Amino acid sequence: MSDETSAETPICSAKGCRADAVWVLAWNNPKIHTPERRKTWLACGEHREHLSQFLGVRGFLKDVVTLAEWESAGSAADR
Ligand SMILES: [Zn+2]
Repeated sequence: MSDETSAETPICSAKGCRADAVWVLAWNNPKIHTPERRKTWLACGEHREHLSQFLGVRGFLKDVVTLAEWESAGSAADR
């Protein structure tokens, strides 16, 4: 899976999915990231649950917000 995102046309991070992203999943892997660091995955409506479960079972998931909310919040997370 890729965590690369594009500022132009945000697309779902799920493998093989080319749908427009609607959700931002903010996550952190404590083994490789400092606590305040946030990686982001994008998800369409269909994959939000799948991707958040993937991160959730590993204890990585920090936040799930809509893309509009995320951008208006002006987060400094990696993109
Ligand atoms: Zn998707």
